[in-house]
Amino acid sequence: MINPYNYWGVIARYKKYLPITNRTPIITLNEGNTPLLYSEYLSNLLGKGFRVYLKYEGLNPTGSFKDRGMTVAISKALEEKAKAVICASTGNTSASASAYSAKAGIKCVVLIPEGAIALGKLSQALIHGAIVLAVRGNFDIALNLVREISAKFPITLVNSLNPYRIEGQKTASFEICDALGDAPDFQIMPVGNAGNITAYWKGYKEYKAFGKIKKLPRMLGFQAEGAAPIVKGHIIRNPQTIATAIRIGNPASWKQAELARDESGGLIDTVSDKQILDAYRLLAVKEGLFVEPASAASVAGLIKLKKIGYFGGKVQGLKGITTIVCILTGHGLKDPDRTIKTVKPPKIVQADLKAILKEINL
Ligand SMILES: *Cc1c(COP(=O)(O)O)cnc(C)c1O
Repeated sequence: MINPYNYWGVIARYKKYLPITNRTPIITLNEGNTPLLYSEYLSNLLGKGFRVYLKYEGLNPTGSFKDRGMTVAISKALEEKAKAVICASTGNTSASASAYSAKAGIKCVVLIPEGAIALGKLSQALIHGAIVLAVRGNFDIALNLVREISAKFPITLVNSLNPYRIEGQKTASFEICDALGDAPDFQIMPVGNAGNITAYWKGYKEYKAFGKIKKLPRMLGFQAEGAAPIVKGHIIRNPQTIATAIRIGNPASWKQAELARDESGGLIDTVSDKQILDAYRLLAVKEGLFVEPASAASVAGLIKLKKIGYFGGKVQGLKGITTIVCILTGHGLKDPDRTIKTVKPPKIVQADLKAILKEINL
């Protein structure tokens, strides 16, 4: 098919699996088609017979997987003649909604928890011209507010409660299957509001129903220790973690996440902020991948499970090569403050050849 605009986003590639009609105006920034990178380091860490891959979703147009869902949500909003959209956000949903709304030419309103969103994400929402309101409260409170507003006024909710978001986001599982030739044995990912684990699981099940793959993965989700409502089994009133994208105490897709876990024979567990930051640095230093802290929760989870013998024990029962995919949900440039707090500052030296050579220690 010749595409005169050279657009080749997730709607163009996976239209037959999406609720798109010939009347849907397609709003795209060429999202998706992100790399699935083989990790030699993590594969070796797991041992013989394991292949670990990293799905680098930070390379989406606004720097997170949210774009996959937003292209569908904004296209459908436009089809339904919406004049405005609204979302609550820990940052990346607002970055994505504001960019796709700018492209669509519709008004975008975002509610963010005051003081709790990463600088890169805030910059994005502001530069794309959204109405950005910093709410004195956390994400869960902001989400309740936008649910109420969108129920009462003509403004479309584009949080992952909007089913079109889930539809778009499931395309990431299609890409993984297309790249590997089948589903992986395990998929590991961070869990916040739980829309993404819901979307991936839906995608895998649909691809299997279409005969595109033979097996389904076990879904392994990780929440931050201080923001782990699903693991603890109750709402967390004041969730805390440095991984702001998953700082959520009452996930909207809680039940669906449990369903994905249980139907797939997987698990949802916690990782500490320290484990997250260790994985964050490891990805940067060993893989050349700069991700935001929440994204590192997947690799932190992999390392935790390896340490407790999860892959060698009872869940094994697998023949041949075992494939594991970790989802790296967002780009490291989103949260430069965290990076600067995590690394040593550059050493200051005299503008002098000898002084510099001494530091390089060749
Ligand atoms: C939104 C987001 C998450 C959490 O995804 P949910 O669908 O809310 O579970 C994780 N990482 C990043 C970078 C995100 O933007």
